[in-house]
Amino acid sequence: MDFLRPASLAEALELKAANPDAVPIAGGTDVMVELNFDKRRPAALLDLGRVPELATWRAENGRVRLGATVPYTRIVDELGDVLPGLAMAARTVGSPQIRNRAGVGGNLGSASPAGDAHPPLLATGADVEVASTRGTRTVPIGEFFLGPKRSALAADELVTAVLVPVAAGPQQFAKVGTRNAMVIAVCSFGLALDTTRRTVGTGIGSAGPVPLRAAAAEDFAAEVLPWDEPAANTLTDDTAKEFGELVAAAARPIDDVRGSAAYRRHALAVLARRTLRWAWQDVSGR
Ligand SMILES: Cc1cc2nc3c(=O)[nH]c(=O)nc-3n(C[C@H](O)[C@H](O)[C@H](O)COP(=O)(O)OP(=O)(O)OC[C@H]3O[C@@H](n4cnc5c(N)ncnc54)[C@H](O)[C@@H]3O)c2cc1C
Repeated sequence: MDFLRPASLAEALELKAANPDAVPIAGGTDVMVELNFDKRRPAALLDLGRVPELATWRAENGRVRLGATVPYTRIVDELGDVLPGLAMAARTVGSPQIRNRAGVGGNLGSASPAGDAHPPLLATGADVEVASTRGTRTVPIGEFFLGPKRSALAADELVTAVLVPVAAGPQQFAKVGTRNAMVIAVCSFGLALDTTRRTVGTGIGSAGPVPLRAAAAEDFAAEVLPWDEPAANTLTDDTAKEFGELVAAAARPIDDVRGSAAYRRHALAVLARRTLRWAWQDVSGR
């Protein structure tokens, strides 16, 4: 197996163009599992660990441009104020060792419906920046996932960054698993309120062939939330319940070893209701 080690983004893109079958490796926390279990035996690995352009983040026009290999630990430590939903999700990924290595580029590259970065990226309306020697393009996150473990990336492209809007209101992330850490989500939910535009964003994980938005729930909450009276007690039980039911209805879960479809729908309704309450408490506390 060849091990390709570019030292710049330009070199990484040249190597990917010349070796479209080469498997990119960032933190390696998905790739190495597949190699160790002999599920994949690629002719070449393309190591992204020495590409400095992928390893930084910066603020840019009201968004954070988060490099593909910035590890979850840095997202937690450095971006909790501006990207609170993504930082909450990052905090739940694996263990400290996994969070030190892995990042959002690898989560997107794997395109698992259970990836924890996906719900907050959907809820905030992020864009994925991808590049090849042919140029750079941005893919709205809702168009990035094509099916379980399939994405809009072409064979010669790499994820270079995600462009995530700076939070304009409270955000939440919640996940159900069989234990509290080191666990693949049975289902997960991300929520982003924008108190300026008075909009609500959602993202559902691990309850469909791809991560999903709950558009009807977003429209309903944006319409009925009492934006002019943001006190904790102005969010009624009926509103929270209806929001939860609309989120559950948007899911397309299956029965599998981690949970039944019916359980996933039930749990999502609970997560959506709870996160809306927590977020609304934050609005009233501002
Ligand atoms: C013990 C353990 C616990 C875990 N817990 C969680 C969890 O709680 N939540 C969760 O979401 N995930 C979890 N994972 C899975 C994994 O850590 C995440 O998916 C992580 O985000 C992968 O990032 P990475 O940098 O390690 O990716 P890698 O393993 O390096 O790559 C993953 C995939 O993405 C591709 N890729 C990587 N970078 C790029 C790029 N820039 N452009 C294009 N393709 C790219 C690779 O070719 C590969 O197909 C866990 C894994 C382990 C081993």
